[in-house]
Amino acid sequence: MAKHTIVIENIQFINHNVLQLKCTKPNGLSFTPGQAVHLFIENTSASTEKGAFTITSLPMQHHLEFVIKVYPSHNGTTDKLKELRVGDTLGMDDPYGYIHYRNQGLFIAAGSGITPFLCIYKNLAKQGLLNGNKLIYANKTTADIIYEKQLSEWFGNNVNHILSEEKTDKYYYGLIDKTFLKNAIEDFTQDFYLCGPPTMMDAVIKSLQELGLHKEQIIAEGMGS
Ligand SMILES: Cc1cc2nc3c(=O)[nH]c(=O)nc-3n(C[C@H](O)[C@H](O)[C@H](O)COP(=O)(O)OP(=O)(O)OC[C@H]3O[C@@H](n4cnc5c(N)ncnc54)[C@H](O)[C@@H]3O)c2cc1C
Repeated sequence: MAKHTIVIENIQFINHNVLQLKCTKPNGLSFTPGQAVHLFIENTSASTEKGAFTITSLPMQHHLEFVIKVYPSHNGTTDKLKELRVGDTLGMDDPYGYIHYRNQGLFIAAGSGITPFLCIYKNLAKQGLLNGNKLIYANKTTADIIYEKQLSEWFGNNVNHILSEEKTDKYYYGLIDKTFLKNAIEDFTQDFYLCGPPTMMDAVIKSLQELGLHKEQIIAEGMGS
């Protein structure tokens, strides 16, 4: 049984397969930027679909926002989420999760792995503390990039996009491998924030450690499928 019930106030696609949800916020709910919740969809078949999703709105805002990548082929939670409408309700449990901002550093994300960082960036930007942080963001194609324009406004030249399935003059092509990291990292003493699918996480952590990083420097959270 979910702890809270929230109501959808707005639901829209912000790119070809990413939904943005704006929902009511339970009174007194507190969380730190980067934390996630479990959202529950009460199905007609009495079964409940559940998924973990990060809050992308700021703790002081009066609503909750989520940015959710939809996987129609999985026929699961995200596929059912896209069918919901304004006024529909969702169950929600209390915020949880390890990912948090510590010091200026390099963020490395892939796909929906950017979502735990969106609230952190909003919070830092609000305090004028975003400058100096950098971002490497991996996606398959330009069309898959979440918040492309906003990231460019926040980071300017400090965001490096890398695409694995599209060659453009605008962004790097390939995967975030050891050579790419060696060329992209200027300061090996800073903090590193990492979020993405398990395979990407394992490969990047291995490369970072081979480049001499201590695991204490890495703040990471896996993203399920
Ligand atoms: C802490 C945390 C925070 C997260 N925050 C976000 C967020 O803010 N935004 C976001 O978009 N995602 C986020 N995720 C990831 C998100 O939880 C999953 O992507 C989502 O729950 C997957 O839902 P689904 O539609 O694939 O269906 P599910 O209901 O998870 O799965 C349905 C079926 O699909 C199958 N399946 C799952 N993965 C695959 C696959 N790769 N290939 C084939 N079949 C598969 C399952 O086995 C299952 O049978 C987060 C994950 C974690 C752990």
